[in-house]
Amino acid sequence: MLTFNNTELLSSTIESHVIPAERVAHVQVGNNLEHGLLVLTKSGYTAIPVLDPHYKLYGLISSPMILDAILGLQRIEFEKLEEMKVSDVMNSDIPRLRLQDTIEVALEMLINHPFVCVEDENGIFEGIITRRALLKIFQEKLIQ
Ligand code: AMP
Repeated sequence: MLTFNNTELLSSTIESHVIPAERVAHVQVGNNLEHGLLVLTKSGYTAIPVLDPHYKLYGLISSPMILDAILGLQRIEFEKLEEMKVSDVMNSDIPRLRLQDTIEVALEMLINHPFVCVEDENGIFEGIITRRALLKIFQEKLIQ
């Protein structure tokens, strides 16, 4: 039978499971869509955080968001890649966590999102926590 002390685990903080900001691929809010698509494609991720030069977190951008923005009625308007900014298409309505938040809080958010951004009290980006990291925690606890 699989058992574990779930209250202890669920009430522990996410801090040690966060991928730190310096290891997270990101784009800047003022970059154009061409640069955004380049970083997304090169990184191999479909969505990445949008930051400013001071690492303030603005939102997320994904390849489908960029493709949707350049899709015209008759054709793909590639010229928009250069004209439009990341800030024009990013999603700023995103869930956010703090390093002190518990695994339980993160678990609830990660049901609907493959990763969630972590910020400090000033909105400065600290990193991300991924669904994969959370599944790993539970796997390690369950299969001991
Ligand atoms: P994973 O669970 O590792 O597949 O990651 C889930 C999602 O989190 C990826 O599809 C990316 O959108 C994001 N992600 C994970 N690691 C990174 C990273 N190092 N830099 C940017 N985004 C990441």
